[in-house]
Amino acid sequence: MQPDMLVCDEPVASLDVSIQAQIINLFLKLRRELGLTMLFISHDLGVVRHLCDRVAIMYLGRIVELGATDAVYAAPQHPYTQALLDSVPRLVLADDVTTVFRPIAGELPSPLSPPPGCHFHLRCPLAFARCREERPALREIGVGRLSACHLAPFPAA
Ligand code: SF4
Repeated sequence: MQPDMLVCDEPVASLDVSIQAQIINLFLKLRRELGLTMLFISHDLGVVRHLCDRVAIMYLGRIVELGATDAVYAAPQHPYTQALLDSVPRLVLADDVTTVFRPIAGELPSPLSPPPGCHFHLRCPLAFARCREERPALREIGVGRLSACHLAPFPAA
């Protein structure tokens, strides 16, 4: 069919790791050989980092951050992106092998009746009075970089 674009909705979820790797390599090959554009939808941050040039982070159905994948992972510009990256379990090799895991606080509100203001304010460690009343617009904070947080841009860590 020679498509110009593929929309891939969780294409590797529920696959075991070896099959997942084969499918990801097939996507990379198709993109390289056919010059495809792919819109890749996933909850797996590792797969997104491996496959995608640009990433849009969504919370309760809205984009809260968008940018080049390397830049977003290196210096997130929205507290939800930061919390997502912190919630990925990983091993830190030091004197001891320690598992680091910081889950996001609070419960996910219903998308049918999201909280007023910033939809993330009930779970955001940086929330302040304005966040409860005014929904932050998704705005440009750098070249090709957008964030929907009143406090963005954040200084580099
Ligand atoms: S607008 Fe306020 S509540 Fe929303 S992410 Fe930014 S600091 Fe947190």
